[in-house]
Amino acid sequence: MVDTHAHLDASAYDADRAEVVARALAAGVGLMIAIGLNARSSQASIQLAERYPQVYATAGWHPHDSASLGAEELAELARLSRHPRVVALGEMGLDFHRNYSPPDDQRRAFKAQLELARERNLPVIIHCRDAHEETMAILEEWAQGHPRDRDLGVIHCFGGGVAEMARYVGLGFYISFAGGITYSGDRENLAAVRDAPAEHLLVETDCPFLTPVPHRGQRNEPAYLPQVVKKVAQIRGQSPEEIARETTATARRAFSLPEWSGPP
Ligand SMILES: [Zn+2]
Repeated sequence: MVDTHAHLDASAYDADRAEVVARALAAGVGLMIAIGLNARSSQASIQLAERYPQVYATAGWHPHDSASLGAEELAELARLSRHPRVVALGEMGLDFHRNYSPPDDQRRAFKAQLELARERNLPVIIHCRDAHEETMAILEEWAQGHPRDRDLGVIHCFGGGVAEMARYVGLGFYISFAGGITYSGDRENLAAVRDAPAEHLLVETDCPFLTPVPHRGQRNEPAYLPQVVKKVAQIRGQSPEEIARETTATARRAFSLPEWSGPP
């Protein structure tokens, strides 16, 4: 399996990061994508990808931090995006739920990173909270000027319903589900899990956040991804093995990842 969204650089793992990676491999999670939130976190994620052959990295600026993304920081992201272990840009997007950065800064930072992704022809990882309409409008405009030789990116930790899912898929996005589906009672969102086309469906942990059932209350980690896979399987009426196989193939395509050759 591929954990397509893991904050492996988080300080929550400082005491036992090597064991966290080893537990993931033992649980069948053979590849993990370490997600950058700003320059420091992107650099740290890249260092992890250099250390562990099963880890790839992204370079990005989270909407919460967008007020601090200036020209210098953007140039640093561009530099990091050229690292051979970087497979996407992000996470980027809009978060009007918390508004830790002013909405105008969020829009500016989001569009600047989309522009960079187009130049570099890299997929993007989108964070969207309480901002689906505007995120969709920005992505639609961006997609029009994109030389579509590949799908465009991932809507991470997707929280919307079937109609929103279908619009993102139509635009060329993958839909990624996290541990929330194991405890959420949101019927609309669970219907999107059921109806997402297999070739656009991904799974993630978003660890150390969003710990799935039955590990609620503990720190999340990539080794818990099978719980998300199990829930997706249950909702779609398929076997966990089948969902693991399908989402792994889709993740490889989404991020142009090599075959997994097994634990070292
Ligand atoms: Zn994240």
